[in-house]
Amino acid sequence: MTAHTLRLAEADHYAVGIAALQVALAKARRENLKPPPKLTLSQWAERYAVLSKETSAQTGRFRAFAYQRGIMDAITDPSVTTVTVRKSARIGYTKILDHVVGYYIHQDPAAILAVQPRVEDAEDYSSTELAPMLRDTPVLAAIAGDARARDSGNTILKKLFRNGASVRLVGANSPGGFRRITARIILFDEVDGYPISGAGVEGDQIALGKKRSETFWNRKIVIGSTPTIKGLSRIDDSYEESDQRRFHVRCPHCDGLQVLDWGGPHTPHGIKWDKDENGVGLPDTVHYVCSISGCVIDEADKEEMIETAEANGGGWIAGKPFAGHAGFAINTLYSLFPNATWRLLVKEWLEVKDDPLKRKTFINLVLGEAYEDRGEQALNEARLLARCEVWNAEVPDGVAVLSAGVDVQLDRIEVEVVGWGRNEESWSVDYTILEGDPGEPAVWAELDKHLKRIWRRADGRGFEIMAACVDTGGAHTQMSYAFCKERLGRRIWGIKGESAQGGQRSPVWPIKKPTRRTKASFRPVILGVNAAKDSIRSRMHLDAPGPGYMHYPADRDLNYFGQMTAERSVVKVSAGRRYRIWEQLPGRANEALDCRVYAFGALCGLFHFGLKLNRRADDVGARLTPAEIIPATASAVDSGSSLGDAAAPPAAAPATVVGPGASSAPRAAAAKRSLGSLLPK
Ligand SMILES: [Zn+2]
Repeated sequence: MTAHTLRLAEADHYAVGIAALQVALAKARRENLKPPPKLTLSQWAERYAVLSKETSAQTGRFRAFAYQRGIMDAITDPSVTTVTVRKSARIGYTKILDHVVGYYIHQDPAAILAVQPRVEDAEDYSSTELAPMLRDTPVLAAIAGDARARDSGNTILKKLFRNGASVRLVGANSPGGFRRITARIILFDEVDGYPISGAGVEGDQIALGKKRSETFWNRKIVIGSTPTIKGLSRIDDSYEESDQRRFHVRCPHCDGLQVLDWGGPHTPHGIKWDKDENGVGLPDTVHYVCSISGCVIDEADKEEMIETAEANGGGWIAGKPFAGHAGFAINTLYSLFPNATWRLLVKEWLEVKDDPLKRKTFINLVLGEAYEDRGEQALNEARLLARCEVWNAEVPDGVAVLSAGVDVQLDRIEVEVVGWGRNEESWSVDYTILEGDPGEPAVWAELDKHLKRIWRRADGRGFEIMAACVDTGGAHTQMSYAFCKERLGRRIWGIKGESAQGGQRSPVWPIKKPTRRTKASFRPVILGVNAAKDSIRSRMHLDAPGPGYMHYPADRDLNYFGQMTAERSVVKVSAGRRYRIWEQLPGRANEALDCRVYAFGALCGLFHFGLKLNRRADDVGARLTPAEIIPATASAVDSGSSLGDAAAPPAAAPATVVGPGASSAPRAAAAKRSLGSLLPK
């Protein structure tokens, strides 16, 4: 090689080298300008999230279940603006929410607004969820502001980050909390727990919060909650507006694509279990009956069925066209957490099924469904009349305690005496109308005599009225006050119904202890009449003796039941929020219902002062409900009762009483206890 050619070669090398350098530089420049790789939320969580020991059962890396992944990735899908999650408990939603916050701090820095039901909930979320996450997740800890520095601007409800991201936490009960905040990411948590009256006079909190993000083209709104009451549930409303996705799985036996539902005694599919010879449910026998071909699916198949759902053409499938709003509904049957096995859920159900309040909680938290309020449905007076019974004495054998409700009218006083047995099964022992002007003492003297009467059981045992509530809010307030004030020692309580504004449900008997000042002056007890009416109406729907069932004697007429059903539950709108109150139907008298509300109030007052009803029932030898008195029409009345499965009636007691609608022969114990279509067995 000559010197010349050598020089040429060097020049070539040099040219190649320069070109290579330029390419490399350009590449490096592009790399530097490029944002970090866009991850979906589930990818981000699986790569960066660290589970803190105080917020989750497992620690270390997060791994999404199949149903969580779909929800998470919808949140970071650019075509989605709003995500609704109608959820049960135990599906890991709180963790998902944590990851959303982490993602929009680290991956796609944004101003985040998280709205909890109350300020206290926001503080609690900040300290129990956010703080451990910021401490234990390295990529977040690296950009977190110094919480201890005085000028950091960080508080429990406000977190600033060095990359410009921020998190603000507010309570839906603080109207000021929304003002002056703009945020690109808004997380509404537990929206069914937001106060009914809205954020002050400004209106609905969700609408108000959404406004705070309107300036962002790439905003994101996440609305999540367990539902509460059907017809009043914001999460139901929001899910309704969405594309309504449900998680579909394939039956391992017939390959049928379906969603997992709890089912009920009248549905062929769903969670089923066997009973022993006494009718007691056996959680160990739990299985799922496929809704396509009736196959029996064992719990052992659950995890694979769920985790392989997407690969098999299942997973989240929408029921409506997508228009920017992705909605997810999920229940605890899908949960792959060890504290949510089907066996455990059945065990929980068997424990709560006889208690209306706990049953509601189960439906909300486990089934992820709103509770249907039966008050909405009309009761047929004629069918109620057909349930009337003849008793063998003034006081039926099931009664443990008597209470009275007194309604004061312009020209008369109406009184109902109610007998209460185990689990608040009740008997309307007497209904009397005392004619006379309550502005004069005569009719009050009669009332006093009536309330002092001794009522007899068949075996001769006498019962006194243990407590009474007298309405002081209607006619003749001063006379009512005077009457009750002198008889406080006999537990004759002057009461006034709560005003229904805002539809708040106060407890039937107020929780507040009287202050020294209120003790000194005589004041009526404010009864939560809406809650009392909720309870009474749902019990009127019960169609067979047992907990909560209401018995009526044969002397009641259609007019009486017309009064008992004289009110309906109506939905009102105030400040953009719907709420429900009881309202008298036009032209209908409602004294009988009022008397029952007050008598129930008196029972609740006795509970307040320590009465243990079931223990009292044992003490006075109250008989268990005999199955024989189920009237002929019982199973026909309202067979769709949502109130579920009540305790099985104890076997055979003497057939001393029968309903007039029944034949004189005792009805068999099996007289169709057609309870509970909503929930199983
Ligand atoms: Zn099948």
